[in-house]
Amino acid sequence: MAETHPSFNVLWLQAASCGGCTMSALAADDVGMVRALERFGIRLLWHPSLSEESGAEALAILDDCAAGRVRLDCLCIEGSVLMGPGGSGRFQMLSGSGRSMKDWIAALAPRADHVVAVGSCAAFGGVPAADSNPTDALGLQFSGWAPGGALGKGFRSPSGLPVINIAGCAPHPGWVVETLAGLALGDFTPDRLDALGRPRAFADHLAHHGCGRNEFYEFKASAARPSDRGCLMENLGCRATQAPGDCNIRRWNGYGSCTDGGYACINCTSPAFETPSGPFQETAKVAGIPVGLPVDMPKAWFVALAALSKSATPQRVRANAHSDHVIIPPARRPPKQP
Ligand code: SF4
Ligand code: SF4
Repeated sequence: MAETHPSFNVLWLQAASCGGCTMSALAADDVGMVRALERFGIRLLWHPSLSEESGAEALAILDDCAAGRVRLDCLCIEGSVLMGPGGSGRFQMLSGSGRSMKDWIAALAPRADHVVAVGSCAAFGGVPAADSNPTDALGLQFSGWAPGGALGKGFRSPSGLPVINIAGCAPHPGWVVETLAGLALGDFTPDRLDALGRPRAFADHLAHHGCGRNEFYEFKASAARPSDRGCLMENLGCRATQAPGDCNIRRWNGYGSCTDGGYACINCTSPAFETPSGPFQETAKVAGIPVGLPVDMPKAWFVALAALSKSATPQRVRANAHSDHVIIPPARRPPKQP
């Protein structure tokens, strides 16, 4: 019997995933993901870590969705799709079903009004696709930067949208809730996605925006060690000036971010972030100039501005950049009397 429940039904499956995207999403808002979604009338039909149903009960839910007996408004996939060996998908079987996860996704995706890739593995292949990619891991609609993926580059869900790529390793919980809420409210049009299918609500920003180290960046007062307070770009591999994301505007768990914690941004919202040209926490340089310069900035400008900034660095900023605490506080001056 067809279901008539008025809620927005979401089925969430984990393919080749560490589960980190779910761990991140669970911390959404101040109430957690499930209750945050409920505020928008979103119902989780099934989630492998959160739902009570297992075994035959869980498979019955998937069968009902695949057969169209239960309305499927949104299929969320976390983790990359393993195509191997030899295109069979049998590197990842859905336990008890006798079918590969690849086959389940192929059966369910055309039934869903919307298909959402949760995290960079589902979006672009991510960590399982690194280096020699022995399991033939793919994203749903991309393989790294190349359109294609498990569903093919021409895939469009019945809503007319391509796969919506909530990229990130892991994505911010707010990106997940906000995207699903937009879909549930019928407020999500193709122009809200960038060229890689990422919601522009977060992808139109850079992770650099709002970083607590911005003053050090302005003066190129750079950290030499992760515990230093200075900017992490020049020496410690920070790629936030190239990384789409509002990670430093919309803080994580209400407070922190990668760079706040002393971890250089690894551009986890972009394809192929998992295979950098060198170590993650080192800045690749040619003739002393970082290879990964800020987007939109010609190299010559960067070099000129960096030299100028360094020559004008206040002593306070220079000293604090190389310390794990404030050594020199800002000068306190009484306001000038008119
Ligand atoms: S540490 Fe990274 S994000 Fe922070 S100011 Fe430097 S370049 Fe920008
Ligand atoms: S700061 Fe960079 S590495 Fe950290 S979550 Fe944002 S995009 Fe990913």
